[in-house]
Amino acid sequence: MDFALSKEQRDIVNAAREFAAKEFTDVALEFDRNETFDLNLWKKACELGFVGVYLSEKYGGGGYGFLEHCLIMEEFFAADAGIAVAILCTTFGSELYELFGTEEQKQLVLPKLVSGQAIMATAVTEPDAGSDPAGTTTTAVKEGDHWVINGSKMFITNGDLAEFVNVFAVTNPENPSRHGRHSFILVPKGTPGLEANKLRGKLGVRASDTAELSFSDVKVPLSNLIGEEGKGFYQLMELFNRARLQVAAMGVGLARAALEESVKYTKKRKQFGVPISSFQLTQAKIAEMATMVRAARNLCYEAAWSVDRGFIDHGLIAMAKWYAGDAGVKCSEMALQLHGGYGYLDEYKVQRIYRDAKIVEIWEGTKEIEKLVVARAVLQQ
Ligand SMILES: Cc1cc2nc3c(=O)[nH]c(=O)nc-3n(C[C@H](O)[C@H](O)[C@H](O)COP(=O)(O)OP(=O)(O)OC[C@H]3O[C@@H](n4cnc5c(N)ncnc54)[C@H](O)[C@@H]3O)c2cc1C
Repeated sequence: MDFALSKEQRDIVNAAREFAAKEFTDVALEFDRNETFDLNLWKKACELGFVGVYLSEKYGGGGYGFLEHCLIMEEFFAADAGIAVAILCTTFGSELYELFGTEEQKQLVLPKLVSGQAIMATAVTEPDAGSDPAGTTTTAVKEGDHWVINGSKMFITNGDLAEFVNVFAVTNPENPSRHGRHSFILVPKGTPGLEANKLRGKLGVRASDTAELSFSDVKVPLSNLIGEEGKGFYQLMELFNRARLQVAAMGVGLARAALEESVKYTKKRKQFGVPISSFQLTQAKIAEMATMVRAARNLCYEAAWSVDRGFIDHGLIAMAKWYAGDAGVKCSEMALQLHGGYGYLDEYKVQRIYRDAKIVEIWEGTKEIEKLVVARAVLQQ
């Protein structure tokens, strides 16, 4: 068993860390306060090859695996989660094309995603259905050589920016299995009837775009179907298998940032004439954080390593996602506590980490859903 990163992987980590430190630090607070982002930063990250490293070289990707993508995720999220989402989640859903897309679809979307020409969104959640994607009701009906899509989607990352929207819609309502009714269909930006409404006032990851989408008689060619008709639910599970380990890497980055901020601050801050790091109650928190970061990272990287070798263990992936989310939330809470009143101010990065960390326990399957997946996997063994 080899836990060491290769020289190439260490180079990727160092390059990502350097880029994030240089580009995120001065703008993170402003983007967070104003809920804005500068798309030039995303373009720069694309130019430097940080976006879509897991995609095939044939389509302009890095030709690496999800492990390398997770390494970049950890570095970017440790620097600033909102900016990291705005940059790295622009390819969310590209996995559907690599796995199920036609050659023409791959050629159409993938090179644009990695070269900073287009952003992708994947729209599954609806106002009345989140944890239960099979319960979503947006419809796509065949009319001649087109799909006609009607319905609405909620909380869609990049919904307001995306050139390509992958819509999860009911195409086979008569199928007796609720897992055989949906398909993914590509809707390009600007298609008449597609409207996006940016959501404001998020707790965290405020630099990233989140929108609700409405589809009113949106017409796209039948050839915009991604993969096989009626297989959307199973495709979504495959997407989750890859996306959840990326979310786990987000949790690792956030937990690590909480630890790093705590180490810096407690060594410097003095009370009763000594650094607060010398108090054993502080040390207990530091020890808990350091252990959680390590455990979360090991779960996440084992899951990514397995997926890269074609072995999909959805129980392990769900464990990594749940545990890393828990690590992010708990470590950021301890870190804020260690900062006392200063941690309550947004000028201190630790406040942002505390707010940003919560999303890891919500998107791509809440922590409760992840625990159900883990339990099912264990009980089936
Ligand atoms: C900032 C942000 C960005 C997002 N981006 C996207 C995106 O790009 N695309 C997309 O499709 N979605 C996106 N989402 C949606 C996200 O995936 C959902 O919010 C999430 O899946 C939960 O669904 P819900 O909000 O409807 O909550 P619900 O499903 O209503 O859950 C509410 C509570 O009930 C619990 N619960 C539900 N079912 C069970 C059960 N069986 N057992 C025990 N507890 C249960 C949940 O764990 C949760 O605590 C995003 C959300 C946010 C906040």
